[in-house]
Parts: sequence; structure tokens; C-alpha cells
Amino acid sequence: MSDGLNIAIAGAGIGGLAAAAFLARQGHAVTVYDQFEAPGPVGSGLILQETGLCVLSELGLRPAAEMLGVDIHRLWGVAAGTGRTVLDVRYEALRPGLKGVAILRPVLFALVYEAALTAGATIVPGTRILNAGASQGMLTTGEGKVLGPFDLVVDALGVRSPLSNLPRHKLPYRALWATLPLPEDGAFRPDALEQRYEGARKMAGVMPSGRATPEGPQTVTYFWSIRAGDYTAWKALPLEDWKAQALALWPETESLLALVTSHDDLTFARYAHRTHWPAVQDRLVHIGDAWHSTSPQLGQGANMALLDAWALSRAVAQTGDMHDRLRSFVRMRALHVRLFQTMSWMFTPVYQSDSRVLPWLRDRAAAPLSRVWPAPKLLAAMVSGAVGSPLQKLGLKPAR
Ligand SMILES: Cc1cc2nc3c(=O)[nH]c(=O)nc-3n(C[C@H](O)[C@H](O)[C@H](O)COP(=O)(O)OP(=O)(O)OC[C@H]3O[C@@H](n4cnc5c(N)ncnc54)[C@H](O)[C@@H]3O)c2cc1C
Repeated sequence: MSDGLNIAIAGAGIGGLAAAAFLARQGHAVTVYDQFEAPGPVGSGLILQETGLCVLSELGLRPAAEMLGVDIHRLWGVAAGTGRTVLDVRYEALRPGLKGVAILRPVLFALVYEAALTAGATIVPGTRILNAGASQGMLTTGEGKVLGPFDLVVDALGVRSPLSNLPRHKLPYRALWATLPLPEDGAFRPDALEQRYEGARKMAGVMPSGRATPEGPQTVTYFWSIRAGDYTAWKALPLEDWKAQALALWPETESLLALVTSHDDLTFARYAHRTHWPAVQDRLVHIGDAWHSTSPQLGQGANMALLDAWALSRAVAQTGDMHDRLRSFVRMRALHVRLFQTMSWMFTPVYQSDSRVLPWLRDRAAAPLSRVWPAPKLLAAMVSGAVGSPLQKLGLKPAR
């Protein structure tokens, strides 16, 4: 197959736009389709790990992400009843200088969106994708229009992609979130994601999430864990009743919760655990959440989508027919995907489930063990996305 390919990317999210930027830079004709009418997603803050930051570096976006984001050095979780620290992950346990960068999702989106446009990709809004013809490289829209044929079709439609199979494992818990101005009372560490737990049924989190503009105020994202089926009941509950529960769990969030004045200030995040195999069918390849979605407990999803985008561009740049290039993409990513899907599946119920045994073990056995060598190093490797050495495998260089 000659170069100068005609590539369709379904989904202008983090993974789709990063892939568009890399592939358009290689000289391919890239068209990105999304259902949004105008770009500019809403979304909670998220943590970029060294994995995602290295991919942003390749796009020349790391300095901007670091400038608008905020450095995270520690994940710190406390059992509310006992005050016992049950999660304490320090990035530096793996390597001096290692950190995460928490960033507002719209900021990250704007960075990759601009990069895709600058590289020459065409972004087509208002297009809902319903189906794909993998062997002919076609896409079908909600209006029944057929797009293509393309040399390559990338499914970057996220967790509810109609081109991937449905989630087989329903997660019992989801989250409510709100991004709010950082309170000035110093109640929260500026460089840590903090969490409070009561068993695994109640959990709240506060994560610094940077700012929207260089002059803008610093923000934090507040998370509240909620059973998947309880959202309607929660909305019917007077807001003050819920606040009383949230404050009982974590009294120091008072100044933050004072900024929440209606149920609509909190957004219900839907997520699912699902891995779509095979990742490649003929000319169709799945990346990001469309390939592997999970709970955000390990904070890897956007980073995995960025790694997929980079790996796909490296594979497409190889010689050989499209089938071989896409097989090479899967070889580059499959181990890392399998490892993190498994770890996320194992760890999520420890923090979000109805289990009584798991949080008991977490607080009394796992927490003390996690402080004993080599556990701090292993935990930092897991949180930073380093397990399975994805950077080495993809020829990416971590920052020194
Ligand atoms: C509360 C929460 C916190 C999170 N925190 C973190 C974190 O700290 N770190 C981290 O790395 N990850 C985090 N994640 C996960 C992360 O947000 C996702 O893994 C990441 O956004 C996946 O990127 P993607 O490009 O695959 O999909 P998305 O970013 O979801 O993009 C999919 C795109 O496809 C479009 N689309 C969907 N369906 C259609 C259709 N039928 N037709 C046309 N367009 C369509 C959508 O409009 C969207 O633009 C979090 C997720 C949640 C919910």
C-alpha cells in the first residue's frame, strides 16, 4: 500500500484527536467525525501520567499542559472512621522527579484539537456514526449516509462506541463530580489527589485540576461515589441531606460543598469496564475507550488513549500492507492494555463496591503492607502507568 492514505477517525475525543494530529503530520489525508455540534467538551479534571505526558511531548504540547495543569506528587486516601491512611502512593518512590499533572479536560481537549487542525486534519462535527464496514473501510452515519471508502478507519468513539461490543461487566458504582474554584482555606494539599472512604460504599475525592487560562483561578475537582442505580433517588433527596452525609465523611470539604447549590452542579459520570477483542478487523482499528474502557480508579484512560494514538501512528508509518501495520499496532499495545485492564478490574471493588471484606482487608492488611519495600515502588509504577514498560516499547523518552 502506498503512503498518503485516506484515513477516517470516528470520534474527536482525546485519543481520536491525538491520532489525527500524528497521522496528518505524516502526510495522510485525515478526516475526523464527531457527533458534537461544536467542539468544546465538558468533563472532570483528570491526571496525565508520565505515559500521556510523553505522548504530548511528541506533539509539542507538554509545556502547555504542565503550565495550565498542576503537579501531583501523591495519592492519599484516609479511612474516615479511624483516620488511618489506607492509600499512600508517592510518585517519587519509583523515580526522583516523577509526577502526574492534573488538568482540566477542556484544556487537554483544546490542546489536542488545535494540534490536529494545525497538522492539517479535517474535523467534521454534527456526524453521528452508527456502523462501520470493516472490510471496505466504510462508516455509516445516523442519517444513513455512507462515508468512504477509506484505507483505514479508526474507532475512537469512546466507552459507548457503537462499533465495539457492549460492556459485559457492569460496574456497580459510578461517580458524581464538580469542578470548583480552589478554596483559599488551605483545606487540601495542592499537590495530592486526596480521598476519604467509609468501607467501599462511600468515597469522596478532591483533586487539584489546574486552570483554564494562564491567568485563571486554580480549580479542584470534587468526586462523590454513587451506586449506578441511585442517581434518580439522589436527585430526589434534598441537597442539604446529601451534603450532611458528605460532610460527615469529610468535614474539611465544607468550604467546597458550600459552592454546590443545586443537584445540577454535580455531573453523573457513566463508565464501564469493557475490552474489545480483536482490536483490529480488516481496515478497522479500535483505540482508547472504544478498545479498553474501565473505571477511572487508576486514572489511566486518557493516558492509554494517547499511547494508542502514538502507537497507531508508528505502526502506520511502517512499510507493508495495512493488515501487517495494524498487527504491529496491536503488538505494541496489547500487553499494556491487558495489564491495566486486569489491575483496574481487581482494584476498583476495593474502593467502590458493596463488599465488606475487601475494604476490611484494604484497611487492616493491604495498607500496612503497602508501606513495606518493594510495595511503594510497585504502587508508583502502577499509578504512573509504567507497569509493562510502555514507554520503552514505544520509543518514548521520559522527562528527566
Ligand atoms: C469521572 C472520570 C474521571 C476520569 N479521570 C481520569 C484520569 O484522572 N486520568 C485518565 O487518564 N483518565 C481519566 N478518565 C478516563 C478518560 O476520560 C477516558 O479514558 C478518555 O477520555 C478516553 O478517551 P477517548 O478518546 O477514547 O474517548 P472520549 O474522550 O470519550 O471521546 C469519544 C468521542 O467520540 C464522540 N462520540 C461518541 N459516540 C459517537 C458517535 N456515535 N458518533 C460520533 N461521535 C461520537 C464523543 O462526542 C467524543 O468526542 C476519567 C473518566 C471519568 C468519567
